[in-house]
Amino acid sequence: MSAVVTRIAPSPTGMLHIGGARTALFNWLYARHTGGTFLLRIEDTDRERSTPEAVNAILGGLEWLGLDWDGQTIYQFARAGRHREIAEQMLAMGRAYRCFATPEELEQMRAEQKAAGKPPRYDGRWRDRDPSEAPAGAPFVIRLKAEQTGETVVRDVVQGDVTFRNDQLDDMILLRSDGTPTYMLAVVVDDYDMGVTHVIRGDDHLNNAARQLQIIKAMGWPEPTYGHVPLIHGPDGAKLSKRHGALAVEAYRDMGYLAETMRNYLLRLGWSHGDDEIIPTDKAVEWFNLESIGRSPARLDFKKLDNLNAHYIRATDDAKLAQMIGETRPLTAEARRRLVAAMPGLKERAKTMVELTAAAEFLFDDGPRTLDEAAQKNIAPAVIADVLPFLETTDWTGAALEAAARAFADAKGMKLGQVAQPLRAALTGKGNSPPLFDMMAVLGREESLARLRAYVT
Ligand code: GLU
Repeated sequence: MSAVVTRIAPSPTGMLHIGGARTALFNWLYARHTGGTFLLRIEDTDRERSTPEAVNAILGGLEWLGLDWDGQTIYQFARAGRHREIAEQMLAMGRAYRCFATPEELEQMRAEQKAAGKPPRYDGRWRDRDPSEAPAGAPFVIRLKAEQTGETVVRDVVQGDVTFRNDQLDDMILLRSDGTPTYMLAVVVDDYDMGVTHVIRGDDHLNNAARQLQIIKAMGWPEPTYGHVPLIHGPDGAKLSKRHGALAVEAYRDMGYLAETMRNYLLRLGWSHGDDEIIPTDKAVEWFNLESIGRSPARLDFKKLDNLNAHYIRATDDAKLAQMIGETRPLTAEARRRLVAAMPGLKERAKTMVELTAAAEFLFDDGPRTLDEAAQKNIAPAVIADVLPFLETTDWTGAALEAAARAFADAKGMKLGQVAQPLRAALTGKGNSPPLFDMMAVLGREESLARLRAYVT
């Protein structure tokens, strides 16, 4: 078997949403698994709707996800001359023909078909006519001279063999009258020139595959292996919408999900390896195959995504997490030191990087905290005033501070929590935090005492 070449071919008319990201992941994994090549083609032939911002969002999204592609990015529009060349070659081979039907004529044809209760389909009126019958200089399109009998079978690794009757497929346009290629022609020519062996994409392209195969067969080119992957649905089983999370992949980054989480989650959305839920990328590369892609639509599940993200946050190195937070906001050297020191406690509690950052807020700068609602309930200046002398004379380690607070509580007949909660409120501004006495150690003696004293009048 020749080396595997996969590709993704996004149209830069919008962002890389999670469906597209999953397609990219599957293609990337299959190429990496087989030691093959993963290519990127930007299908920017629709000049009206393609934007440079969308191109950047696609490239940025892939980079963030860590899905590196091989070789140069191919831009489809730049290849229009090559597409035209193939259309003309098909013409010369008798596998395509010029159609001079005017838009008005075609409109009338469709109206008649509709009136007769038939599906609208080009009726082949120029298929066997000689171009000399057309008025001189009349505009024309080039149409495929499609097989009219028999069947076209898409042999699909996900869907199985899917059979289309050729009499249901009409003579599609390959080249428009302005000389620009249609999507169907461009995809086939580009995949051939790029040596693509496996076309793995959303199952909304399954019908296109039958049409594309007709062009491939007409040219006598090798048929790629197809894998049409069921689309992703929302948590309620309905088609994915914005409300459901059909967002740009980078929106997931902004919501605080790690790229590794997204790779694992998107992999599990439509592919399985036994009951494994946690599949780090190295294992995914080792295990990925096309046979285990599921046949039914996968449902987006934010709870699963959160759980997986909590797992990968815990598994990420403390300094790395601090660095990631540092990429989203300025951090002084002292803030960074505190953040790394507090990270073991912080990362146990966070489902997203956004939560992690919010929970670490009390470490970022000095001075008294603004109290959240829970902290306002817990703050007890009298208790703080009483416990301060105990703390002031203690070694500034988590263990010693806890012992001091305990001794104070015992002496006063209080529970440790009754002492700890007011301290936590003053020190962190919150109702909960990583283990308090460790956080006091992280903040250091002076900063901790200053925050406590601020609540004593
Ligand atoms: N450009 C097409 C799209 O964005 C993909 C074409 C393909 O994968 O064959 O949906």
